[in-house]
Amino acid sequence: MSEVLNITSLSVEFNINGEYYHAVNDVSFHINAGETLGLVGESGCGKSVTSLALVRLLAKSAKISGKALYNGRNLLDLSLEEMHQIRGKQIGMIFQEPMTSLNPVYKIGSQISETLRLHNKISNDEAKRQSLEMLRKVGIARPEEIMEEYPHQLSGGMRQRVMIAIAMINNPQLLIADEPTTALDVTIQAQILDLMRNLSRDFKTSLLLITHDLGVVAEMCDRVAVMYAGQIVEQGLVDDIFFNTNHPYTQGLLNAIPKIDVQNKDRLQPIVGNVPSLTRMPKGCRFATRCPHAMDRCKMESPPLMEIRENHQSRCWLNDAKVV
Ligand code: SF4
Repeated sequence: MSEVLNITSLSVEFNINGEYYHAVNDVSFHINAGETLGLVGESGCGKSVTSLALVRLLAKSAKISGKALYNGRNLLDLSLEEMHQIRGKQIGMIFQEPMTSLNPVYKIGSQISETLRLHNKISNDEAKRQSLEMLRKVGIARPEEIMEEYPHQLSGGMRQRVMIAIAMINNPQLLIADEPTTALDVTIQAQILDLMRNLSRDFKTSLLLITHDLGVVAEMCDRVAVMYAGQIVEQGLVDDIFFNTNHPYTQGLLNAIPKIDVQNKDRLQPIVGNVPSLTRMPKGCRFATRCPHAMDRCKMESPPLMEIRENHQSRCWLNDAKVV
């Protein structure tokens, strides 16, 4: 299977009071054509910073290193002009809150058409025709009327459908969706996930899905990368992550999910404590202060990512395996 995106040793540092601190540290993953990769973890673990770094949407003061190969071209080496050509055309993006991405003073129709005309030499009429067709594909009823409305006139679910229409209008090869359903009601969440799954299948688009929700991962993903404190701590096929879980942090995330099973009267087990702050990263394993299995070694030495079985890696000293 061909790789659409290959991230190698991506690191991002931010300047805090004159010193640089790693928000993302030596992150590597890839996405194959037509595949959905879930990037999972708590708020503040570096998921969004990773995605913003690879599409070059971080502030100039952020120090980014490593490689982000998109179809063989390193996105981190491209000029801003070259990046503008790729964003919105070959790489589409959807964010959690559509109101922050949609322009409140432009009608929906002109916002979709604008994205099309920015990357294609087509007439206004053709842009309008294609925009209407895209609104139909994302399940918007009365698309002619919606084209004439402003974002504030739509519900949250409709706005997210419009964002998906904008992200998909140029038939991108890769879609980055950052918590696309977090701000929506549960029933609307399911509809939006269905829509994204169907569109990425029909358009043959690869999907980088950033979420804290393992339920969404189970529904949508082929493979999963679990992030903690700026590092990938476990990575593998979705079945391995759920049924052959290795890393204590991933296990903690799974234990914190409510179970529908009425026989199961166990209380939910939250992961105690918080993600360490950028300025106070532990010297050894970054999860050591919250890990129920922490040993002396964990507090002194940082574990590398180890291959624990084919296509399954984990960053934990409990494993005696090959370093990746
Ligand atoms: Fe826990 Fe140690 Fe493994 Fe870190 S290396 S996850 S502290 S057992």
